[in-house]
Amino acid sequence: MNPISQKDYIDVAGLRKMQLAKLQELIPYEYERVPLFRRRCDEKGVKPRDLATLADLAKFPFMIKTDLRDEYPYGLTAAPMKDIVRFHCSSGTTGKPICIPATMADVDIWSDGVARCLAMYGIMEEDVLQVSYGYGLFTGGLGAHYGGEKLGCAVLPTGAGNTEKQIMLMKDLGVTAIACTPSYFLHLATTAAQMGVDFRRDTKLKHGIFGAEPWTDEIRRKIEEISGITAHDIYGLTEIAGPGVAGNCPYCNGLHVWEDHFYPEIIDPDTLEVLPDGEQGELVFTTLDRRGTPMVRYRTRDISRLQTEPCKCGRTMRVMDRIHARTDDMLIVHGVNVFPSQIETGLMKVPEIAPHYQIHLSSTDTLDLFEIKVEVVPEAFSDNIRDLEALRKRVLAAVKTIIGLTPKITLVGPGTLPRSEGKIKRVIDNRKK
Ligand code: ADP
Ligand code: ZN
Repeated sequence: MNPISQKDYIDVAGLRKMQLAKLQELIPYEYERVPLFRRRCDEKGVKPRDLATLADLAKFPFMIKTDLRDEYPYGLTAAPMKDIVRFHCSSGTTGKPICIPATMADVDIWSDGVARCLAMYGIMEEDVLQVSYGYGLFTGGLGAHYGGEKLGCAVLPTGAGNTEKQIMLMKDLGVTAIACTPSYFLHLATTAAQMGVDFRRDTKLKHGIFGAEPWTDEIRRKIEEISGITAHDIYGLTEIAGPGVAGNCPYCNGLHVWEDHFYPEIIDPDTLEVLPDGEQGELVFTTLDRRGTPMVRYRTRDISRLQTEPCKCGRTMRVMDRIHARTDDMLIVHGVNVFPSQIETGLMKVPEIAPHYQIHLSSTDTLDLFEIKVEVVPEAFSDNIRDLEALRKRVLAAVKTIIGLTPKITLVGPGTLPRSEGKIKRVIDNRKK
């Protein structure tokens, strides 16, 4: 076993004790240094000394994304600037980005999470890791980079973009693992095919480390089918560290949460009550070790579940379900709740459909217009209107069975929809608000 993985197997009683001890240090630290947290605790009438058991954490207030915007740039920073070594900012779809200053120890904890994920995937010091996540304010690039170096891999920091050159380097340098968004990997795969490069024949690629955006099991299978690699899931978010908060092991379809650093809870997003393990709800994290911008009970908006069965691999860290939806990416169309991942699952049931699609919503005064544009694989794209019409009907049926609605399905030719170098934007919602 790689020594870095030893922590994954700590006995559960020891883990709970460690989590409580870390929380009992974190809460007073945060209370003393972050006025917003202190104010909220005071309003609730809760004091740091009220944390006597792990269950007591539920007495403390939540943090949410708008807190980060409202307190931008330094309101939630708990460490002095002399201790800060790094900033990361998350995309922030509207207005100001959110900014997370980190200390050297914070960066190290984050790298530890990524390195333990890589080790769990079976990646070793001998591996050559190409990092095709974007570098910069986005956490993907530097997160995978530092994690790879910590494990001892040879890291190739290509960043995103310049796809043909990436494929050339992958071949020439004998890259064995690649880290990028699943959507960018699909783009890489198409470009490789156009260049006459066959991943199985011409490269040594074995592992893909994919995250930063939701991707269904169907897309995962498709990626593995076209490239012959194993597609591993890595989860994380800027507010809590970046990628490497959790990763999936080969023994289960969920992700082990590195809960010695990142304490997870699942809450009901409406009542805000903590739910027992086994129930689905909104994922909440407390950063047990971070001191630059600690987060106490941060509501991720990601929907998941903490599994109750211990994983067969022997790791004691709890397993969360893969993330297929965020509370804020749910679409309400004709009064029905629809998640983009449900549409993706339906589309991918049809073999002639390529994993490239867009969901368009617009409205007239009285009606929501709901259209799905989706690419057909080159072999199935034909000029024969009748064939295409039959295919369109099959696609519609596959989607309708899952979402119960009848969107307009538009089949488009291979390579026509926009590709992305980072996180893909699949929903274009132009409805009047
Ligand atoms: P932003 O909120 O601006 O997208 P981040 O770049 O920090 O900020 O992205 C974090 C979010 O990306 C997570 O909260 C989650 O919704 C999504 N995400 C990250 N990794 C995964 C993954 N492996 N599976 C599904 N969703 C993921
Ligand atoms: Zn496991």
